[in-house]
Amino acid sequence: MTGVRARATAPSGALLVALFAVAPASGDRPPEPARRYEVSVDEALEILRARLCFADRAPARLAPGVPEAAVALMDATDDAGRPIATRRGIVETAGLPPGSCVRYRVDLGAAMRSTRFAVSAGGEHVSTQGVWLWRDAGAAPPRASLRFSLPRGVVVSTPWPSGPDRTLRLTQTAFTRPGFVAFGRRAPRAVERAGVCARLLPLGDGWALDDDALAAWLAETIDGVASVRGRFPVSDLLVILVPAHGDQVAFGMVRRGGGYAALYLVGRDATRETLRRSWVTWHELSHLLLPALRSRDAWLYEGLATYYQEVLPARRGVQPPERAWATLAEGFRRGARSADTTPLGDASAAMMQTRGFERVYWAGTAFALEADVALRGRGSSLDHALRRAAPRWRGDATIWDAERLLAALDGAAPPLLAPLGARWTAQRSFPDTDRLLRRLGVRPGDGVLEDGELARVRDAIMAP
Ligand SMILES: [Zn+2]
Repeated sequence: MTGVRARATAPSGALLVALFAVAPASGDRPPEPARRYEVSVDEALEILRARLCFADRAPARLAPGVPEAAVALMDATDDAGRPIATRRGIVETAGLPPGSCVRYRVDLGAAMRSTRFAVSAGGEHVSTQGVWLWRDAGAAPPRASLRFSLPRGVVVSTPWPSGPDRTLRLTQTAFTRPGFVAFGRRAPRAVERAGVCARLLPLGDGWALDDDALAAWLAETIDGVASVRGRFPVSDLLVILVPAHGDQVAFGMVRRGGGYAALYLVGRDATRETLRRSWVTWHELSHLLLPALRSRDAWLYEGLATYYQEVLPARRGVQPPERAWATLAEGFRRGARSADTTPLGDASAAMMQTRGFERVYWAGTAFALEADVALRGRGSSLDHALRRAAPRWRGDATIWDAERLLAALDGAAPPLLAPLGARWTAQRSFPDTDRLLRRLGVRPGDGVLEDGELARVRDAIMAP
């Protein structure tokens, strides 16, 4: 996520209008799902009703994905309307006969309030599915499907793949990871290019930019990220814009729960220029260049996105290379100010608790720069390494670790990134970015460009 320079401001008073889901079609006929959900909402988007049928034996209990959402459960019954016992939001399903169904109701407003990254305004909602999708407690079901039946004018947008009859397929990560699902009144707009079918959903009214301009911005960002490896890293992506005050992008986050979704908190007065110049938008979509990584490797995950958030706009002429270098140099100075001397891997694992974002992000960015320069020294580049290795994790929803990822990036060549990464993980002090910047001809104190033995490498990094 973008935690360093952006703050997660609550989108107060944001009016959300939602969208719907035209999800991607999938060709193969999946095996019979073990769990079948039918979900509906009322026209006011206040109450969600779900019917969940078990192909076989029912689990012992059903629970929400977000534990705090337990308070939103209103009631649960069997298919005949007989009450099923619930305890603190947990539905006791043990003993139900095989093949039975459970119905439950969720107070959507209460569900939204149970998680930090949810927006409810004007009666419309966006949040993770974990606040309304009750599931086997303690384990993700092997295969699940979900079908919405919605009143006229209500649209639900999800990042999940859909089958021929608009039944959505829920993969394991729809249950193990948060996602973004929007309930509202408007369908997202398709932006197809560079190998991705993106669906763009600006929520609410009052945007200074019209849909064409927003779509043009998304298209440019997609093209920039796709340029790293020749195509956009994922095939389907839901992009939700949540309105806020001002004209800047205040926050962004990518989630992978059952599919790929990005949410941006964007000022309603945003212009084409403020949008394309925002590092947040480049940063978030650059995350998709890598597979999901464990929290211990957040330095690598965040570092790569932070590196490309500066490099890509420079390559596309959105910002001058001088500015990209000045921003990188300034980031390194901030990161070096951290007094934390735990190994970088440990600092990454503890980052959400310690709020030690600066060191983790910028040490990771230093890695990306160091790696790119080293690879270019042997006639390759970070772009090339990503392009060659990416098929290894394409479509792979599992969580990778840095060792495996860097070995994949090294490929058959003598290991370069793997040992460099091992050094970074163990590093207790901030890497010596001053030395690297001087070799590149970038003055560490202010990022001004000057002579350096690697000045040509420096210029090649930011060249279109
Ligand atoms: Zn990030």
